[in-house]
Amino acid sequence: MNTMQYISTRGQTEPMGFQDAVLTGLAPDGGLMIPASIPDVSDRLGHWRTLSYQDITFEILRLFVDLPDPDLKDLIDRSYAPFRHPEIAPAVEVGPVHVLELFYGPTLAFKDIALQFLGNFFEYTLERRNSLLNILGATSGDTGSAAIHGVRGQERIHIFMMHPRGRVAPLQERQMTTVLDENVHNLAVEGTFDDCQNLMKAIFRDLPFKQRFSLGAVNSVNWARVLAQIVYYFSAGLYVMDQRGAANVSFAVPTGNFGDVLAGWYAARMGLPIRRLVLATNENDILARFFSCGEYSMGAVVKTISPSMDIQIASNFERYLYYRLGEDAAALREAMERFGREQRLSVPVGTEGVVDPLFVAGVGDTASTLATIRRYHEEQGYLLDPHTAVGVHVGEQHLEDGVPMVCLATAHPAKFSEAITDAIGEPARHKILDALEGKPTRFEPLPSDIDAVREFIAQHALT
Ligand SMILES: *Cc1c(COP(=O)(O)O)cnc(C)c1O
Repeated sequence: MNTMQYISTRGQTEPMGFQDAVLTGLAPDGGLMIPASIPDVSDRLGHWRTLSYQDITFEILRLFVDLPDPDLKDLIDRSYAPFRHPEIAPAVEVGPVHVLELFYGPTLAFKDIALQFLGNFFEYTLERRNSLLNILGATSGDTGSAAIHGVRGQERIHIFMMHPRGRVAPLQERQMTTVLDENVHNLAVEGTFDDCQNLMKAIFRDLPFKQRFSLGAVNSVNWARVLAQIVYYFSAGLYVMDQRGAANVSFAVPTGNFGDVLAGWYAARMGLPIRRLVLATNENDILARFFSCGEYSMGAVVKTISPSMDIQIASNFERYLYYRLGEDAAALREAMERFGREQRLSVPVGTEGVVDPLFVAGVGDTASTLATIRRYHEEQGYLLDPHTAVGVHVGEQHLEDGVPMVCLATAHPAKFSEAITDAIGEPARHKILDALEGKPTRFEPLPSDIDAVREFIAQHALT
C-alpha cells in the first residue's frame, strides 16, 4: 500500500495520509492539501497506452492513495460503471481537433468523473472508520447535481446543497430536485449564489457546529477531485499521440476554478509529454490575464452563456501558485495575504514576458463562442456545449504542425440548450434530461439566514 503524505500549501499543518487529506478538505491552516512529492511515470507510458480507462485510473491512483489494491480496484469499477460509454471518456476527431468527451456520467458534465469516485470513496472510508458525514455545499448548478448524484442513497452521508431559489437554470434545478433519496436535501435559498456561498462559509467557520454535525465539503479544492481528473489527460493524450504518431500533445481546457487544468499540470509534471496547456476562459478572464502578464487581479463577475466558468477567484489557483513560488509555503502565505488585502498579486515573469512556458491563455467571448458552436455544427456536424466551445475557440488559435490538440468537452450540449438555440436556431436534446420533465421534485425553501440553515441541518443531519 502507498504511503504518500499530504502537506498544506501554507505549511502549517501536520502531514497526513490520503484518506485524512480528503476528509479534511481545506487544511486547518487555511491552505490546500497537496501530495508531498509528485511521482514520475514517464517510463510506464508505453505500457499504459494499452490499458482501459479503469486500469489507467488504477495505475495512477495507487501512486497517491493509502488503500489496499483490491479495494481501490473495486472503488474504481463501481465509480465508472454508471457511465454510458464503454471507453468512459472517448477522444473523437472533429475537424482540426480531438474532442475529449467527458460527459457520459449521470449528470452529463465532467464533474461526474471525480464526484462519482469521491462519493464511493467517502462511503468506503466512513464504513471502515464507523463514522458519518454531513456534506454542506453551495451551487449555481453543475457541482451541486454531480455531488448529489455521487452520494445519493448512501447510508452514512447526508448532503445539504444550497442553491439560489429560482436563479438556477430550470433544467439544472431539476437535475437536483428530482433526486428524492432521503439523504439528499436541496435547500432553495431566497437570495443569490453569493448569499449561498457566504452562508456556507459562515457555517464552516462555526467550529463547534461543524464538529457536532461532522460537516464536510465536496468543493473543488478537494484533492480527490483533482486526482481523478489527472487520469483523462493520460488516457486521451496517450491514445491521440499513438494514433497520430506524435511525440507530444496539447490540451485546450475551458476553465473556471482552475481544477480541471490543474489536473493537466500534474499530468505534465508526472511525465506526460504535454506541449501546451491552452487555458480558455469566458469574459471572466482573471486566469487568462494572469497567464498573459503574471498579474492576478480580481474583477467583477459577469453572467455569460458558459455559467460554470463565471468565476473570479479560482479556488484551486493556490495550488499552482505554491509550485510557481518554488514550493515556498512562507512566500505563498505572504502572496495570499497580499491578495486578501489588495485583491491582486503578481509573479515575476521570464525574460520574454512568458509567465509559464507550459501555458498559453485566451478568452472566448459570447460572440466567438456562439460562432464556434455554429461553425462546428455546420462544417463538422458536431454540437459543442458553450463551455467546450470556449476551449475549442482558443485551442484553434494554438494549433501547431505535428501536435494534436485535445479539447476537453466538459458538458453535453443539451445541458445548456438556450445557448445552442441562440447559435443554431434549435435546441439540443438528451433523453435523460427530457425524462426529468414533470417528475416529482423535493426541495426546502429557506430564507437567506444562517440560523434558519443551521436549524434545518440540526434537524435533519445524521448524528
Ligand atoms: C465546472 C465546469 C467547468 C470549469 O471547471 P474548473 O475545474 O472549475 O476549471 C467548465 N465547464 C463545465 C461544464 C463545468 O461544469
